[in-house]
Formats: sequence, structure tokens, C-alpha cells
Amino acid sequence: ATMPPLLSAIANAGRHGVLVKSAVVMERLGQVDAVALDKTGTLTEGSPRVTDVRPLPGSGLDEDALLTLAAAAERPSEHPLARAVVEAARERGLDLPGAQDFTSAPGVGVTAVVGGRTVAVGAPARLADDTPGAVAELEESGRTAVLVVVDGTPAGLLGIADRLRPDAAATVTSLAALTGTAPVLLTGDNPRAAAHLAAEAGIDDVRAGLLPQDKLAAVQEMESAGRKVLVVGDGVNDAPALAAAHTGIAMGRAGSDLALETADAVIVRDELAAVPATIALSRRARGLVV
Ligand code: ADP
Ligand code: MG
Repeated sequence: ATMPPLLSAIANAGRHGVLVKSAVVMERLGQVDAVALDKTGTLTEGSPRVTDVRPLPGSGLDEDALLTLAAAAERPSEHPLARAVVEAARERGLDLPGAQDFTSAPGVGVTAVVGGRTVAVGAPARLADDTPGAVAELEESGRTAVLVVVDGTPAGLLGIADRLRPDAAATVTSLAALTGTAPVLLTGDNPRAAAHLAAEAGIDDVRAGLLPQDKLAAVQEMESAGRKVLVVGDGVNDAPALAAAHTGIAMGRAGSDLALETADAVIVRDELAAVPATIALSRRARGLVV
């Protein structure tokens, strides 16, 4: 028997490093006419590095003590920023104490008790009413500023930098051409860092500071305006939007388990350019000219 076109397309997508979970998904991919992209881990490589460790005056902490507390609290988290913090502590040879009562809030950060102290690590605007002046300075240079709060008092800042994926700008251009609509960026990160990165990727429509339910609402709004939205994301914070979208694709290498399970397709090899390639395969299978 000859293989039905959608099944051949799934096999071809596999060769591009994309795991498409069903023939229905393969078909739906070719129908999308709008794309919403996540930032951290999707447009960026998702292997961010800590570039700045800044204890706040009066915290009584030096750089190593600040990083130790932050990394101990972040260790149970699978967020790319958490991995960067733990890696920075490891590079400095710091011993990490155990953490108790770990909690994480997608799009916000983590909390844990470390050596009897309650440590919160996450988005400055979500953890404190008054964010230190250095936050703006870090964010204007495109970095993500992460606040470390110890026993309720801001104790220091970490600056974290991530690189745009090498194929991000070309992918944005291809997706705009294929769908007839410029892709939008949906991110939980701060507006300054988001704008910086979006400009590099060639994206004009940027929505920043979003919680998971805000990403979901943005997608629902596009869908109710008649768009068939493709969401591409990697995080726990992307899961509601991935589930609600016409089609959802997760970045597989560093993606969270929840995103991989929720998405309709997974990019197994770490190439963003596989997204437009797979849309084109779907259209060809459905007999549409690309
Ligand atoms: P994106 O939507 O770009 O993938 P997220 O929603 O995952 O970003 O995160 C948004 C913001 O929430 C981050 O920029 C950071 O400030 C904060 N955040 C979330 N999780 C963590 C964490 N584990 N450690 C530190 N900060 C975090
Ligand atoms: Mg992400």
C-alpha cells in the first residue's frame, strides 16, 4: 500500500526533527494563519548564563552567599533561569545546602526554605513593590533581572543573559510569509528585555510581563477574532496557551515535561526553522501549493 500523504508528511517531519503526534495534528499545522512565540527557551537558546551577581547594600551577603541561597532555592526547578543560577553556583565551587518547602509559580519564580531562611527568587516586579534601580539598568541591556528576597527583604539581584537562536530571525520571516501575518511574542519576561530581543528577531508585536493565564487569554483573543493560532513554547507557563491554540508545538530539548505532554508536536532537534518546514510539509500533503 502507498502511505497516505499525511502519514508520509509525519515521516518527513520526523526527518526534520519534529515529532508530530497524529495525522490530525499534521493536517491542522497547515491551516495556521497566525503564530505566537514564547521568548525564553523558544526564541532564545534557553541556555542562559548568570552575568551579574549583586548583593544589595545592607543585605549582609557577599556575592557567594547570595548566589548560594538563590541556587539552593532554584535547584528543584526545571526553569531555564533556575538552571543558569545553579550552574553559576557550581562554577564558583559553592556548596549548596538542601532546600525545604519548595514551591514554584510559573511566570513568577520560586520559593524555598534554605538553612532556616525563606528565600524567594524571581521576577522583580512580582516579588517586591519597589524594585531596586539596578533592575532597569540590567534590563535595558537586554538581560533578565532576577530578584532574590530573603525573609521578606530584597537581598540581591542576578543578571541573566540568553542568546537569540541563530535561526530565530529567519524563522520569523518564513512564518510571516507562510501565514500572511507577522508573528507575535508572548513572554513572562520584562518589557525592556523582551523589546530588546524582539527587535533582534524582527518581531514588532510584543506582549511582556504575562502570566500563564495572560498567554492563554492572548491566544483565545486571537482565536475568537477568527485566527487559527500556532503557539510555540517550552515552559510550564506556556502549557495553557499550547492547549488552547489551534496547534501547539513545544521545544523538546530543554522543554518542561508539561509543555511536551500538552503540545501537539515536539521539536526534538533543537531547530526553530523546523516550524515553518513542518507547516510547508502539511500544506504539501494536503495538496496545497506552498
Ligand atoms: P517566558 O515567557 O519568556 O518563557 P517565563 O514566563 O518562564 O518566561 O518567566 C517569566 C519571568 O518569571 C522570568 O523572566 C523571571 O523573571 C521569572 N521567573 C519564572 N521562573 C523563574 C525561576 N525559576 N527563577 C527565576 N525567575 C523566574
Ligand atoms: Mg519559555
